[in-house]
Amino acid sequence: MSFSSLVSDLTYRDSDRDEKRSTLSRAKSYASTAATSVSISGDISSQLHGGYSHPLARAWQAERQLTKSMLIYPLFISDSPDEEMLIPSLPNQHRRGLNKLVAFLAPLVRKGLRSVILFGVPMAPNVKDALGTAADDPKGPVIQATRLIRRRFPELFIVADVCLCEYTSHGHCGILRDDGSLNNQLSVDRISDVAMAYAEAGAHCVAPSDMNDGRIRAIKLKLIEAGIAHQVVLMSYSAKFSGCLYGPFRDAAGSCPSFGDRRCYQLPPGGRGLARRAIHRDINEGADIIMVKPASQYLDIISDAKEIGKDLPVAAYQVSGEFAMIHAAAKAGVFDLKTMAFEATEGILRAGATIVVSYFTPDFLDWLSD
Ligand SMILES: [Zn+2]
Repeated sequence: MSFSSLVSDLTYRDSDRDEKRSTLSRAKSYASTAATSVSISGDISSQLHGGYSHPLARAWQAERQLTKSMLIYPLFISDSPDEEMLIPSLPNQHRRGLNKLVAFLAPLVRKGLRSVILFGVPMAPNVKDALGTAADDPKGPVIQATRLIRRRFPELFIVADVCLCEYTSHGHCGILRDDGSLNNQLSVDRISDVAMAYAEAGAHCVAPSDMNDGRIRAIKLKLIEAGIAHQVVLMSYSAKFSGCLYGPFRDAAGSCPSFGDRRCYQLPPGGRGLARRAIHRDINEGADIIMVKPASQYLDIISDAKEIGKDLPVAAYQVSGEFAMIHAAAKAGVFDLKTMAFEATEGILRAGATIVVSYFTPDFLDWLSD
């Protein structure tokens, strides 16, 4: 509405109503009309408050509202069936064996848990080797947990993280050459075999986090060859940045490299262009969902992922370090845990993510109504 038509509309309405008004109310009306004409001073676009004065109207302003269905909860599955061990650096999070899983998940599923992502944690002595053989052992933690969860909680969507670092003796995310660098071809062959084993065990989604070049294409081709590409979601950790925020996770998963680091395959923290190239590449190679990790430190990359992958869901992994920092600050009285968890997670959604992998998931199931 233009300013001039607004003014004539107000004038018309005032003159119409004035017929029925007392002198007192007419005086009030003049005062408020005068105030309005001063405050808008020719520019109607200055008037925003009316649009969010009511709590429901405020809720409607959110472009993406956090709901339970957006959340994926990370689970650390130990190969020791009766283990239930608190992870010291990851508040309230445990490593659990198969025998502890159903009792833990049942109340969360009742509260509305929709999805979990599984990380295997082999604890048995001598189980790790240079090829990460245990990753797709049919008796290994991820395959066993997938079968168990499918049977006991058929409505739960299972994402299987696919990597070798939990299972390799050297702790790197692939198979190494003699000089310690990744052998890309062998790593991709192995990673795609592991992804197939998880998909065939019943995972609804396989999510390679290894960062080897070309693994999305290799997994997609194998899924097509096996005739299951139409029923398995392929989620790529496309923009996974190296950094210090994975520390608590490495404690939890026992996946710290025994030498060197992962900077030759995870992205350098300033590498926005590389992230964009990796996102383009993975979409072209057949990814169904693109992931950015960590989340709150990389809101610009989440926004890039949304722009590049307009037609794909974008996931963001609110990593162990982000979770631990919020807990530490809340414990120190810097701010309220719930408020900060909401602000951090809703910030991630605002940047463009529609899926959040979060250790806060059990809390959000209590805090959210749907
Ligand atoms: Zn890895």
